[in-house]
Amino acid sequence: MIGTVQTLEFTDLKVHVYTPPEDGFRVNSTIIELRNRLIVVDGQLFERFAREVGDLIDGLRKPIDRFILTHNHPDHYSGFEYLTQRFAGVQLAALPEVRDYLARLGEQVLEVRRNLFGDQVATHVVVPDALIVPGELVISGVRFLFQRFDEAEAEHTLTITLPDQGVALVADLVGGASDHLFTVQPHFDAWIAVLEKLRLDTAKIGLTTFVIGHGAPVGPEVLPANIDYLKAAKAAYQSSAKADEWVAAVGAGLPERGPDAWVNWSSQMLYGHVAP
Ligand SMILES: [Zn+2]
Repeated sequence: MIGTVQTLEFTDLKVHVYTPPEDGFRVNSTIIELRNRLIVVDGQLFERFAREVGDLIDGLRKPIDRFILTHNHPDHYSGFEYLTQRFAGVQLAALPEVRDYLARLGEQVLEVRRNLFGDQVATHVVVPDALIVPGELVISGVRFLFQRFDEAEAEHTLTITLPDQGVALVADLVGGASDHLFTVQPHFDAWIAVLEKLRLDTAKIGLTTFVIGHGAPVGPEVLPANIDYLKAAKAAYQSSAKADEWVAAVGAGLPERGPDAWVNWSSQMLYGHVAP
């Protein structure tokens, strides 16, 4: 296996976080292993890494209850073409807004990614065939809290919180303290408000771990660095007419962040050269 797996262990469940290497944008697929079933969240950009997620699922020897997509970005949904073929009959669930976005634009966005990144990107979008209604749900005796956050990293993002384990899957709303965030749209203030709410929820629920969209899980201590990032990215956006000027201004306004490829990539979307 080329990617790495980090497993968080609790009394009645495990959370396996699969992370591919840098050339897979470190985009996570997370398997929530319950007593008698698996819930698999997000599906990779490239098929070679979706295959590794499939192998990891097989190794756990439990049925998949459902696939879940957290938001409408192709680095999280492309690989579901492969996964839904390998595990035929498993539903893909998402927020209604995310389902509608994929039905409308998913195919077109994938085509652009295929032209940029090659044929490891899916040919066809898998439009989610099950919907997630925000709220609380108990699955195999474990409490889940599903929440929707709007106008942040993506138009709509689903977070999945396991309140009794102190863990939240927050997708790309949160990044590592020394990583670039994916500011692909100028939603800086709304995103900061989301992080402030997360900070309150974290204290209220007693969250200790965020499973983020890209890279190793982090703790709530990263939230101030994330908010600083968005403030710097906003100031840079107000003073930069072009993508490369914005990249330079973000770099100048913050302590060291990486990888460079992420901020360069975000700038292409922020300045309208590529659709998110
Ligand atoms: Zn992402």
